Amino acid sequence: ESEFSTLAQSVHPSATLAVSKKAKAMTAAGEDVINLGIGEPDFKTPEPIAQAAIAAIETGKTSFYTPVSGTLSLRQGIVDLAKKLTGQELSVNQVVVTTGAKMALYAMVQALVNPGDFVVSAKPYWVSYAEQVNMAGADFIAVGDEKQGKLRVADLDALDRKPKLIMVNNPTNPSGILYSKEEILGLLNWAEEQDVFIMIDEIYGRLVYNGATFTSAMKLKTLSGSKVIVVDGVSKSYSMTGWRIGWALADESVIANMSKLLGHMTSGPTAAAQAAAEAAVTESQEVVEGMRKTFEERLNATYALIEKIDGLNLAAKPEGAFYFFIKVDQDVLDRMNLSSTLEFADKLLEAEKVALPAGEGFGMPGYLRLSYAQDQATLNEALKRIERFIK
Ligand code: PLP
Repeated sequence: ESEFSTLAQSVHPSATLAVSKKAKAMTAAGEDVINLGIGEPDFKTPEPIAQAAIAAIETGKTSFYTPVSGTLSLRQGIVDLAKKLTGQELSVNQVVVTTGAKMALYAMVQALVNPGDFVVSAKPYWVSYAEQVNMAGADFIAVGDEKQGKLRVADLDALDRKPKLIMVNNPTNPSGILYSKEEILGLLNWAEEQDVFIMIDEIYGRLVYNGATFTSAMKLKTLSGSKVIVVDGVSKSYSMTGWRIGWALADESVIANMSKLLGHMTSGPTAAAQAAAEAAVTESQEVVEGMRKTFEERLNATYALIEKIDGLNLAAKPEGAFYFFIKVDQDVLDRMNLSSTLEFADKLLEAEKVALPAGEGFGMPGYLRLSYAQDQATLNEALKRIERFIK
């Protein structure tokens, strides 16, 4: 019998981190591994953002705890950015800054969900949604049209009991799919009519491509007085994954309850990282556009390469985030005598030294996730190796 809690035993390690760990170990052993496994932009954090953290350290702004929900100036910066991007006026009491968006999601689930409740999301999903809900003792149910990867009003209508919380990711990890304005509005209206909480994770909202339009939930609903929660952060838009700053925006009552829990979990995020995030959200937003354009070029070039490989298929061309969610033909698995995409990913890493997490980690076997947060030459080489592996 294990001496560890049932909780610790029931949580699965992150599938994306597992592949990445094996890839890193192989790299450390001197092997030429291409890691397309992880969701971090490959750009250096822009200089003015890093300098703001250095200034905070040098002027002694790091020797005290910040407010649990984040410094007033960062929360004001987030409020101003939300106004600029969506037109919605928020108060600083509708913002809680957290140790990455992941912590915002965790605190939100803990603040809203009871054991025995159920939480609904779309398939495929970002794996931490499922694990965080499990950690709250609730049931995580992923529904929807697998090909599309979107949650639909019809899926919600078909539920046999009322969810406590709906979790939506727009655009999506792992499939890069973007919801239309009408689709998001439909989900928000359903939640409002049924009086249930709905969270929209907009962390990839500024990374959309080829003229596609992202519609923030904040353009459609007033957060104050509603059960809508918007989650976002600096990780993906500003290439700041290591700084660990994210946030939730919601009605003051939701934010107050999340902050109460965070007071015992973190005492607020790192002060210097908050200073950097403040520079990110308040200074010129051109850095976001520069990285977005680079991702767009890679998406287009890499999409053409994937399309050419026999045995790999994409349901649609991704419109956002920086991932392809690729279907591996059953024929390929059969011919190669592989029992699953999990095994495919493992053998691919061993044989061709390309690391890709399998769809199993996102609730959808039969797929691989490929992150294009890598330079084009590396992506080209990776696809050459994948093609060779299949042949
Ligand atoms: N939400 C989604 C869909 C993600 O893919 C990620 C990161 O991979 C996050 C949230 C969390 O990002 P962070 O904790 O770095 O802010």
